[in-house]
Amino acid sequence: MSAIVAIVGRPNVGKSTFFNRLIQRREAIVDAVSGVTRDRHYGKSDWNGKEFSLIDTGGYVLGSEDVFEKEIDKQVELAIEEADAIIFMVDAETGVTGMDEDVAKLLRRVNKPVFLTVNKVDNPKRAADAVEFYALGLGEYYNISSINGSGTGELLDELVKVLPEGEPEVDELPRFAVVGRPNAGKSSFINALIGEERYIVTDVAGTTRDSIDTKYDRFGFEFHLIDTAGIRRKAKVKEDLEFYSVMRSVRAIEHCDVCLLLLDATRGFDGQVENIFWLASRNNKGIVILVNKWDLVEDKETNTIKHYTQRIKQAIEPFTDVPILFISVLTKQRIFKAIETAVEVYKNRSKKIVTRRFNDIMLPIIESNPPPAYKGKYVKIKFCTQLPTPYPQFAFFCNLPQYVREPYKRFLENKVRENFDFSGVPITIFMRKK
Ligand code: GDP
Ligand code: GDP
Repeated sequence: MSAIVAIVGRPNVGKSTFFNRLIQRREAIVDAVSGVTRDRHYGKSDWNGKEFSLIDTGGYVLGSEDVFEKEIDKQVELAIEEADAIIFMVDAETGVTGMDEDVAKLLRRVNKPVFLTVNKVDNPKRAADAVEFYALGLGEYYNISSINGSGTGELLDELVKVLPEGEPEVDELPRFAVVGRPNAGKSSFINALIGEERYIVTDVAGTTRDSIDTKYDRFGFEFHLIDTAGIRRKAKVKEDLEFYSVMRSVRAIEHCDVCLLLLDATRGFDGQVENIFWLASRNNKGIVILVNKWDLVEDKETNTIKHYTQRIKQAIEPFTDVPILFISVLTKQRIFKAIETAVEVYKNRSKKIVTRRFNDIMLPIIESNPPPAYKGKYVKIKFCTQLPTPYPQFAFFCNLPQYVREPYKRFLENKVRENFDFSGVPITIFMRKK
């Protein structure tokens, strides 16, 4: 689990330019590997060996040209609740504005680290002018230029110092997160799972801490349920803010082993659901897709489940080895099965394959289907092994790793999946020099 850093600030100060600078290098790699469309406002970055998630909150504000103050307030409030550190960006070119002052007012009350960052300091003259930002009452500030990169190193040095270390796992129990769009039935599902008593606890003001990780013992399984304490807040925030649900999903996904991705059968597996799916898979989390409200689907002739499944698989290509269940929280249909499947996916994710057996199975397959020659060179794979990582990654050792192309790696992944059960789990294939 990595820390979450949120970038807040009014439109046009350079938030997305800064965001792109930080995640570009990594994302380029991720995109090349998975061929996946990415969310332009959420990504992973790292500095001095410390990894963190970065969220450009501005990207989720509607109509960002002519933005309402209310929207900015909401954006900042959510960032305050969900992030571990906040980068508050202002613009040296325009100087302090009224909207900056409003945001500063919210941030002054926060006891999370806030990094006041003056952007567009492209030259020394601007650096001198930046002193006016002391007036925001947030103390020291960082001068940066997101365009040419100056000052960003100093900012990141200080930022990663305050980020929490990844929490050590307290036990070996599976951690499940229930994620999905608003109204998919997440609260109802959690309720069906753990009983009504939880609401009583959460509704009493002041008795809850931001408990995101609670241990349960249901249906003969022991597991942790990762919840972002969103149930109570839900009553407060009525808006169908996609940003809100993305923030919650990010938080929950970071903390879990397996995501139970709920969707409303009558609304389908749309772009927003797909986004959450990619969030989970790019974080190497296990995934179970639960098509909820199946009771509302009238026309259930034998083919419906098959067609529905096919449509989802098309949307999640190439990572299609994911369990898809059709459930109804209302009638409690297959609720137990959902948990059972999540436990299986958890086991798949922590599975370790003995190297000897792995080679015995994979090497003959490779021998009869070697990597195609590339630029006249032949690749010889000699040995393979699972890496000692918390989720499945495999290394294939060969003479010319750089000549093994994506399709062949996908072929290897498929063969691994055919021979070992990694259902619901993203796996990574590395080619290494030997
Ligand atoms: P956002 O709305 O806060 O996400 O702002 P953008 O990242 O879209 O940037 C707004 C404008 O400021 C764009 O035209 C950027 O090219 C420009 N910009 C961003 N960072 C810098 C910088 O460091 N120096 C200068 N001169 N312009 C910048
Ligand atoms: P959340 O926003 O994802 O937490 O969704 P809720 O749990 O609040 O559910 C949204 C609405 O869908 C509520 O009115 C639920 O009663 C309803 N709902 C949830 N699950 C089912 C289901 O399996 N079948 C039907 N018909 N309605 C459901």
